[in-house]
Amino acid sequence: MVKETKYYDTLGVKPDASDSELKKAYRKLALKFHPDKNPDGAEQFKQISQAYEVLSDEKKRKIYDQAGEEGLQGGGGGGGEGFHNPFDVFDMFFGGGGGGRRGERRVKPTVHQMRVTLDTLYKGATRKLKINRTVTCKQCKGRGGAEGACKDCSDCNGRGIKIRVIRMGPMVQQMQSHCESCQGEGSIFAEKDKCKKCNGRKQVREEEILEVHIKPGQRDGEKFVFEEKGDQALDIEKPGDFIVVLDEQEHEKFVRKGDNLIIQHNIELSEALCGFVRTIKTLDGRDIYYRVLPGEVIAHAAVKVIHNEGMPMHRTPSDRGDLLVQFDVKFPDKMSPSNAIKLAELLPGKREEIIDEDAEVVELVDLDPRASRRTFGEREEQEGHGHGGFGGHGHGPQGVQCQQS
Ligand SMILES: [Zn+2]
Ligand SMILES: [Zn+2]
Repeated sequence: MVKETKYYDTLGVKPDASDSELKKAYRKLALKFHPDKNPDGAEQFKQISQAYEVLSDEKKRKIYDQAGEEGLQGGGGGGGEGFHNPFDVFDMFFGGGGGGRRGERRVKPTVHQMRVTLDTLYKGATRKLKINRTVTCKQCKGRGGAEGACKDCSDCNGRGIKIRVIRMGPMVQQMQSHCESCQGEGSIFAEKDKCKKCNGRKQVREEEILEVHIKPGQRDGEKFVFEEKGDQALDIEKPGDFIVVLDEQEHEKFVRKGDNLIIQHNIELSEALCGFVRTIKTLDGRDIYYRVLPGEVIAHAAVKVIHNEGMPMHRTPSDRGDLLVQFDVKFPDKMSPSNAIKLAELLPGKREEIIDEDAEVVELVDLDPRASRRTFGEREEQEGHGHGGFGGHGHGPQGVQCQQS
């Protein structure tokens, strides 16, 4: 048990989340709330980065699990140094091409999350992506106007700042402010000398089409780095990188686990006992089927494997992972007594119970909601209403389902 779950809740994961689950949660949320994309996201962006900073560090996570936020603040094992800037955490996570030498100033990468279906990741695809980047104006080479036409700003005498002197009785105070006329540059072009293309701004927005080649078997979170295809800054030579991150969408039938796929098949009890056939449409559109022959029994929640029908393996796409079929056996609500007796004769292993002659017979009835509250507590009852929906892994009966009346 962990002491508190705030950081886990912030990232929307369970306290037993694995490293890759944490990474995935951080990636999705950080991109969603990054202030570049979401002007109101600053506070949430900060929270997400703090939660991730703690939980992604094995030592800090341990302290947090044991002692909560309080434990991190105290000297308890090297905590207490405060948090990094959320933007640094973000940059560290997404990184760039890694080509920059240490100390070299680089423009921050532009990160774009690309939604892809499982079908696309199965088959591979080439996607065209239209991007808009800020680049130095080529017409004026980033000067903003004709060469040599730049004059010192007369409003600030070329200093870029204005100084105002304020007298308050015997006190004299100097106030410095940014010069509005020249935007603090100190120099300015006359209207007629301004570069026509960028209107004196030195930079322009440029459209470009990038091609993203998605290979069969690629995974959620994989990155494509387009070096120097990000924004350009005036005082830094190299443009930033443009990074595309694959964001795998949930599929209605298949759940992916690495190279394996999982599908759930609901079967009737008669099928579980007597055999059946099911077809599956694969992600590349083939029809496959399997047979469970009479004599073979499928237990509820059993998992069977179909080899080589999972996701293509990234490095060797001709090899594929496995397809796991998870069975959910639907029991009939009621049976006629005569059928029950017939069935009992056919099915093996009815146990002879030895009953003491003093034993009392008691009635077995359905659980009612009030009884469930008394027995299992308020929490279980509430959870009973909210099953299914998220995650899609925990199928089948869990805990106690309460009846609605
Ligand atoms: Zn220009
Ligand atoms: Zn000025």
